[in-house]
Amino acid sequence: MGKIIDGKAIAAGLYEEMREEVIQFEKQYGRRPGLTVIIVGEDPASQIYVSHKEVAAKKIGLVSAVVRMPESTTQEELLAVIDRLNADPTVDGILVQLPVPKHIDKDAVIAAVAPDKDVDGFFGMKSGFTMKEGYVAPCTARACIHLIKTTGETIEGKHALVVGRGELVGKPVATLLLGENATVTIAHSRTRNLGEIARTADIIIAAVGRPMIITGDMVKPGAILIDVGINRGADGKVCGDIDYASAKPVAGWITPVPGGVGPMTIAMLIRNTLDCFLSHVQ
Ligand code: NAP
Repeated sequence: MGKIIDGKAIAAGLYEEMREEVIQFEKQYGRRPGLTVIIVGEDPASQIYVSHKEVAAKKIGLVSAVVRMPESTTQEELLAVIDRLNADPTVDGILVQLPVPKHIDKDAVIAAVAPDKDVDGFFGMKSGFTMKEGYVAPCTARACIHLIKTTGETIEGKHALVVGRGELVGKPVATLLLGENATVTIAHSRTRNLGEIARTADIIIAAVGRPMIITGDMVKPGAILIDVGINRGADGKVCGDIDYASAKPVAGWITPVPGGVGPMTIAMLIRNTLDCFLSHVQ
């Protein structure tokens, strides 16, 4: 029977550590790390994500701010705010909550954030599956790696299957797994025989956004299963991409949804802010 990787508890431990770190930073460098989140428009899901980030930032003592801009904001107005924050020495991390309204070019916005303040980790990712040295990795991808490491199992030499090749999770997590010397397979909507591939994987990271992508019969006994997906199941409850009920008895380790990758993603956003702060003060 697989053991549960309790993302909520692991994140709580990280928050404790980071809170202590922030106290030390203030003594050592005379200021606390600053995180500013920009949100454009009224998207309800984005509002919730931003408020979770704000609560986490306050909890560990960051200097945190949220810039709320109306749906009608022009690209120039948004870029001007980013420019101002780029130049502000008290701001270590800038996060533009996605999606931005359709009339704004998302890529131009992402590119406008100073690379050393890019707590979302977009700049750190470069094509060719390597990380740019000295920059932070995308939060969810970093969360997945951290969760795997808490099992105490090694990643090096293992066969890791990433299901999903999205820019936010699939590709970055595959990159980080390669950096950990895993043998990485990336599956996507055109992959044939997913079950056959999955049964050879020591680690499966599911980042698709559809329930039941991985079921127990597709899991190698003892495998580590990290479920990134957030879906609504047929019963109306939140569920992941992995069928928890059938996969857990076969797996060695498994993350629940909710309570797995989700809470760790926000903890990693804070970690990224602390790391950006350190790159500024050291
Ligand atoms: P995305 O960019 O849309 O990527 C989804 C990927 O799934 C695509 O690469 C797609 O393949 C692949 N796919 C679709 N159907 C498939 C199938 N039947 N078999 C195999 N692969 C299939 O999505 P995302 O932004 O990466 O997000 C993925 C999920 O993670 C969503 O549920 C999202 O809500 C969740 N998420 C959670 C967190 C968290 O903190 N827990 C953070 C971010 C995202 P193609 O490329 O071929 O279309």
